[in-house]
Amino acid sequence: MSLLVQKFGGTSVGDADRIRAVADHIARTRRNGDDVVVVVSAMGKTTDDLLRLAGDVSQAQPPRELDMLLTAGERVSMALLVMALADQGVDAVSFTGSQAGIITDSTHTKAKIVEVRGDRLRDAMQADRVPVVAGFQGVSVERDITTLGRGGSDTTAVALAAALGADVCEIYTDVSGVFSADPRIVPEARRLGRVSFEEMLDIAASGGRVLALRSVEFARNHRVPLHVRSSFTWEPGTWIVEEDAAMEQAVVTAVTHDTSEAKVTVTGVPDRPGIAATLFRALADRHVNVDTIVQNVSAHGATDISFTVPRDDLAHSLDVAGALLPEIGAAEVQSDDDIAKVSLVGAGMRTHPGVSATMFETLAAHDINIEMISTSAIRISCVVRAGRVEEAVRALHQAFELGP
Ligand code: ADP
Ligand code: ASP
Ligand code: MG
Repeated sequence: MSLLVQKFGGTSVGDADRIRAVADHIARTRRNGDDVVVVVSAMGKTTDDLLRLAGDVSQAQPPRELDMLLTAGERVSMALLVMALADQGVDAVSFTGSQAGIITDSTHTKAKIVEVRGDRLRDAMQADRVPVVAGFQGVSVERDITTLGRGGSDTTAVALAAALGADVCEIYTDVSGVFSADPRIVPEARRLGRVSFEEMLDIAASGGRVLALRSVEFARNHRVPLHVRSSFTWEPGTWIVEEDAAMEQAVVTAVTHDTSEAKVTVTGVPDRPGIAATLFRALADRHVNVDTIVQNVSAHGATDISFTVPRDDLAHSLDVAGALLPEIGAAEVQSDDDIAKVSLVGAGMRTHPGVSATMFETLAAHDINIEMISTSAIRISCVVRAGRVEEAVRALHQAFELGP
């Protein structure tokens, strides 16, 4: 008998039929003799709809209230799923994140889990009831309701799997695993059988949104095996596991893309120690996650610094940088939200030179201009015009022969 955490994403619980199909799968898991803890996302596009509604009602959108609003989405799915389970003869019980004991810090809209007290879930399982937990939410140490950032139900699932000592955390979604590129953009993308935590971290960090980045970090740190699979076909999908010697190390494993960022440029920055420190400390204090940073060679003692930030953070990044202009003696702040990032990820890159050259040649052959470049040991990313990114993904997928 195993303990499984099964997480179902938005499309997987998108309507009444889908919820019944999920209930049927959970009932079968129970009949197999396995224990299961379920985590659900909000139905379909509910979270986006609630965000739009907030935007229609308010300019200010206090983050505490935004969290209160968004957590309603997952409550709907958890209650409906327990009802559907009752029809299957499965005794289940729903819990909000707070009831499930998911304790977070107080950073509204992107809170971090600081502790998981799973007592009520353990009690439910003892009583032979299936706990169904609302994903993406917790309660802060100040007892306010928080959310974990977009895609945060994955993080809930992994955190519960770690706390309860689950044998595996199954992430059920609308594709059958992790692919060599987003299958919506590259139909011939290949499903990967196994991916190391290390590669998956870079895939998630560079836009492969099939798993939320935090969930992969959590799984790696707590050694939770992850299985990403389809809630439509139920076939086995992709295992995210620790790297081992026997693992095939492709030079390039996946091409990813990210359209969720914007570029900020601070011009006329004096070229002297401490300026970048001041700017990026101020952004960090506002919880802005800065990504690619480029600083030009200075001409006449002044330079430009460009960096990318999540588009949701653009407005207050501009405020932060703008307010610092007099202090750092820079000229002006510009923004550009028409950018996207295309990346190559592969553990074999560490030992194979020439990947960047082929990447740049491929983009050049398509006349796609590279505006920024950043690299890690196993990833190369290029910022390009947003309108060209899908073409870039397809071209790179073909150039590196990632298809079947
Ligand atoms: P869920 O609601 O189940 O959490 P998401 O929309 O968050 O689903 O994530 C699944 C989506 O991730 C897929 O529909 C797919 O379009 C997208 N995706 C992006 N990159 C990849 C990739 N490399 N492999 C698989 N899916 C990907
Ligand atoms: N419903 C939330 C979102 O859309 C959390 C999740 O689906 O994981 O981001
Ligand atoms: Mg998701």
